[in-house]
Amino acid sequence: MTDTPTVSPLFGTLAVIGPGLIGSSILRRAQRDGTIARELVACDIDPAVRQRVTELGIANRVEADPLHAAADADCVILCVPVGAIATVGAQILPVMKPGAILSEVGSTKQSIINAIAPALRPDIPFVPTHPMAGTEYSGPDAGFATLFDDRWCLLTPLEDTDPAATALVETMWHRLGARTRIMDPAHHDRVCAIVSHLPHLLAFTICGTADDLADETRSEVLDFAASGFRDFTRIAASDPVMWRDIFLNNREALLEMLARFMEDAQAMARAIRWGDEDFIVDRIERGRHIRRSLLENRQA
Ligand code: NAP
Repeated sequence: MTDTPTVSPLFGTLAVIGPGLIGSSILRRAQRDGTIARELVACDIDPAVRQRVTELGIANRVEADPLHAAADADCVILCVPVGAIATVGAQILPVMKPGAILSEVGSTKQSIINAIAPALRPDIPFVPTHPMAGTEYSGPDAGFATLFDDRWCLLTPLEDTDPAATALVETMWHRLGARTRIMDPAHHDRVCAIVSHLPHLLAFTICGTADDLADETRSEVLDFAASGFRDFTRIAASDPVMWRDIFLNNREALLEMLARFMEDAQAMARAIRWGDEDFIVDRIERGRHIRRSLLENRQA
């Protein structure tokens, strides 16, 4: 720990399993401020990640075995890809201390909750969260201490999650810089399908379409890429495993939003075909309005 904290740490030991972009950002902020935990433990299956976390010096202890990392922790946060969260959770739950908190940061909620449910223990409160912050980069070098500043972190506690544990995790996210909102898991998945998952699906698809074009056209796409296409390529640079897991774990909500989007895109196509200027201007105005709202809300 670098600075003497002015408020006491929330936990004795915090274990972060999967210190990639999100996990290492939690560790960096926790280490910088010293207000989250007295001891920080990082655990990763990948020796190269463990080596890098050790070099970065963002944890007091670096473990290869999640059971060792979790056994004496007061709070464990699973920061592994969505498809691995329930598996790792089920693996560590039997060794966790009674009263310790289990949390996770996956980008989808309902499927994780369903998958982990059989392994949950009544004496270990489970507090699922989703920090709405990130970049297209992954791994421990991609993290930074201010990643969560002013971003939303959505919490989706279960009906029987101890409210005191939820409050503690909420305070942790405030100390990590985020604003918080408590939400029903199914509602979370629908909201994220439209604000995050569908935009990524569109970005991957449009880049694939450009790539499918004839060689000459493709090189022109790359040569003349203006801001619109460039912005799509930034989103499309995201980690394939992470996004595969998100799409497959939020299948229903994502397909519903995609169907809605395709209807609206069809309406736009019709307006362009028939020269319906008012319709076209109205849709563009709505987009500009949303962008202005985001800027006012400091989310852009
Ligand atoms: P990341 O940078 O790829 O980090 C994930 C880390 O977990 C990697 O070091 C990975 O090791 C490790 N890992 C994978 N399986 C493991 C296991 N079974 N046990 C221990 N470690 C394991 O990913 P991220 O972007 O931080 O995302 C982590 C989680 O946060 C995901 O669930 C994601 O949905 C969620 N999330 C991401 C964002 C975002 O924008 N990136 C935003 C909000 C929430 P390897 O390198 O060997 O795979």
